[in-house]
Amino acid sequence: MIENMQIIFDFKNSKEYLSNYKLESINDKKIIVKNVPPKRQDLGTFLLDFMDTDFDDHIDLYLFVKKYLFIHLLTIYDNTIITDINNYHIEIKKDKAQDFIDWIYNTYSVDFSMIQINLERVFRNKYYDDILKITDILSDEYDEIEELSSNERDYCAINELLTDNNTTKINYDLKTFFMNNIPENISTNYTFSSDTVDNFLYCIVKELISNVKNIKFECCRNCGYWFINTNNNEQKYCDSIFENNMTCNEIAKEERSKKNEKDDIYLQKCRKRYKNLHKQVSIGASERVQNCFEIFKEQYPIYQERYKEGLITGEELLEWLECMKIRK
Ligand SMILES: [Zn+2]
Repeated sequence: MIENMQIIFDFKNSKEYLSNYKLESINDKKIIVKNVPPKRQDLGTFLLDFMDTDFDDHIDLYLFVKKYLFIHLLTIYDNTIITDINNYHIEIKKDKAQDFIDWIYNTYSVDFSMIQINLERVFRNKYYDDILKITDILSDEYDEIEELSSNERDYCAINELLTDNNTTKINYDLKTFFMNNIPENISTNYTFSSDTVDNFLYCIVKELISNVKNIKFECCRNCGYWFINTNNNEQKYCDSIFENNMTCNEIAKEERSKKNEKDDIYLQKCRKRYKNLHKQVSIGASERVQNCFEIFKEQYPIYQERYKEGLITGEELLEWLECMKIRK
């Protein structure tokens, strides 16, 4: 039995609830996984966490899976492991868990990166534009794609992605979902679920753009993380802390007064890596990751300087950045 990921949107209170579980390490030999009431968080958090993960870095991928997809992927890995999805309490031997984690990386690293690229295209309203670039001008579909591309706005390409992959199900049984404890004042009375990660994400995007007024998905030009903006104006920098207790927005203001150029996609990719390594280290990463982070902090200012002075190209900067990822 495969566990469907399940979500309910509480638009009135700007919250989302996701199906949830608890992982416990018993000893060196086994871990226990059991179901617990849904995870409550700010609206859009799951989607943004997905967008900000480096899926070609195996630790980053695992942290995302551990937070959201452990049971879903485990039931794909071994579909006999859980018989009652609403009530389970299972023991997994550590070596089986390790095999499972290796399988996750081999099976999903590329897939999840592709979904992320598709979503980025949708959020930049460049989905059809990118298809057009690789479509033969003599092909029968060329004119149609050209038209779609020139009319692309308001994240409309999500409709095509959603219909191509539609496995969404609606479920009215909130009592089971909330394990008999439905929150008061919740503004919706059904959940969405899906058995594929791509469809689940496309459904979330569709629901958010259909229900949240003025919603915009923006990529911070400093740190490269995505954020949701519901103001009427465009916002270039996010309001989360980047370093020294300052948000990207505050850093950008300070930099602007020094007339420094901040909007650079190569530097943005480096800062996203910095943020993800910092995240891994702050929750207690392995020695290997800590060393990588130390090397990053030591070398980045040097490479950044070389790049800014034109001594190396953006592509060369990214080659260096590739060495700062933990691959299998
Ligand atoms: Zn930022």
